[in-house]
Amino acid sequence: MDLSPLIFAENLTRIYPLGPVGVVALRDVTFSISSGEFVLLKGNSGSGKSTLLALLGGLDRPTSGRLHVAGVDVTALTERELTQYRRRVVGIVFQSFHLLPTLTVLENVCLPALLAGASYESTQAKALHWLKWLDMLDRRHHLPGELSGGEAQRTAVARALINDPLVILADEPTGNLDTRNGARVVDILGSLHRDHGRTIVMATHSPIADEVATRHLCLRDGTIVDDRCLSL
Ligand code: ADP
Ligand code: MG
Repeated sequence: MDLSPLIFAENLTRIYPLGPVGVVALRDVTFSISSGEFVLLKGNSGSGKSTLLALLGGLDRPTSGRLHVAGVDVTALTERELTQYRRRVVGIVFQSFHLLPTLTVLENVCLPALLAGASYESTQAKALHWLKWLDMLDRRHHLPGELSGGEAQRTAVARALINDPLVILADEPTGNLDTRNGARVVDILGSLHRDHGRTIVMATHSPIADEVATRHLCLRDGTIVDDRCLSL
């Protein structure tokens, strides 16, 4: 049995080169996440949540430190390998959906799998499965501009799932939604964790997912302050 953590970060540091000293967005962050956890990344605005998710998602590289995901040293990947990593290892849900406006819901969901080389038939079947699960089947031929915020985010969730990622990363996924739709997205992530065994790392500054997550990691000024977010 493999007991090594799915995600292992050690002294992870990200300094944005800005001005004479740079902005330290993350400083010496060390943690590990096991397969099947639902980890909530909490902290006020500017505490480093998005920076950390961008590193986990292979969208950015750390200034120093180690990051291993599924046994792979992410910091050592070439640009080409990092593209594969983004496609196959992680699925990302953003606050502002980031759907391609000229593609339909179904096409948006299928795209990452087709780019990864999957067959059209298997991709379409999987996309329809998740769209049905997300109550989006009757919207599959609509363009993103025709969707409500909640529908757009459910489309983005389906897209994040299409390549069966090892971990789902969500950066303030409820931030652009009203309370009801925000709660629905949290329910969906909770069900993916509980009923489908998915590993989830979700950043939020709100208490909306406090009860659903199995663990809290709290950031303040780029460092992990405690596991229970007592100060938030
Ligand atoms: P959060 O998601 O918790 O709001 P961020 O990770 O976005 O925090 O930001 C952490 C810190 O890094 C903030 O001080 C922010 O201003 C800074 N920062 C984020 N992105 C950049 C960038 N591209 N260039 C310079 N500073 C940045
Ligand atoms: Mg952020």
